[in-house]
Amino acid sequence: MHWANKTLSYAGKPQLINSAIFGLNNFWGASVLLPKGISKKIRKLCKDFLWGIEDGSRRHVFMCWQLLCTPKVEGGMGIKEVLSWNSAQMTKWVWKLLFKPGCLWSRWVTQYILKGGGGDIWEAQSSISHSWYWNNVIKMKDLLLELSGGPEQALALLVRCTSRLRFDVSLIYELIRPRSSVVPWASLVYDKGCHPKHSFIGMLALHDKLPSIDKLISRGIMLVNRCSLCLRQCENITHLFFNCEFSAQVWGIVAARLHLQGGTFDLHDTIYALLMARRNSLHNAGFLATI
Ligand SMILES: [Zn+2]
Repeated sequence: MHWANKTLSYAGKPQLINSAIFGLNNFWGASVLLPKGISKKIRKLCKDFLWGIEDGSRRHVFMCWQLLCTPKVEGGMGIKEVLSWNSAQMTKWVWKLLFKPGCLWSRWVTQYILKGGGGDIWEAQSSISHSWYWNNVIKMKDLLLELSGGPEQALALLVRCTSRLRFDVSLIYELIRPRSSVVPWASLVYDKGCHPKHSFIGMLALHDKLPSIDKLISRGIMLVNRCSLCLRQCENITHLFFNCEFSAQVWGIVAARLHLQGGTFDLHDTIYALLMARRNSLHNAGFLATI
């Protein structure tokens, strides 16, 4: 983990979390419903990896994990949420029972647990006499019923998840993943022409999650609020972007080089003006680099 903390960017880390770490989770998570303690541990490892460890403890973080687990269009990083992903994967066993009746597991369940044709997976209830595993499958059946509203609708949902006789877990995950409102600035901040690190910091700034001095004081990490740039006024996100005379000057110079009209020194107003003017990648990159 140490080498990756030093060499990978904030854009590369979420990808590695989604592919490598979740690859491991996918292997186990597709077979068992992970106990909450394990999911929590995996989430902690992901957080430590993304934010980095300093002197044995995680760096100060002001953004909640759930928000990072939303798609970019909702202002997140598209990281897969462990519990939701695991649950989505586990619904495959209900699908398998209904769509692969010939496989050995389905035949065994139908014969010995659902008692032949008399049993119905949608009616099955959990019980202490059942195995832990089968009770988990029933939990997932209940989840599908809750998501869709009834057995017929749940079946229709599973049909939609079937692609070339395979189960597509992404549709179920889409229904249960963490959600947030769509943000208007996603196309600008995640513009392909922007540096990934700038996009990440821009995203934090727009959520007001940068560790500015006012936030560090509220957590008791710092005592005196003095802007790091002008050394005069109190530092907070409004001051930094761009009420501070230093940062306003920097943005003024960058805006002039990019032939952008100056005069807007508020972060959200500037974003809005850039979006309205349909500026190109160079403008977006220049603005994010300034942040
Ligand atoms: Zn200042």
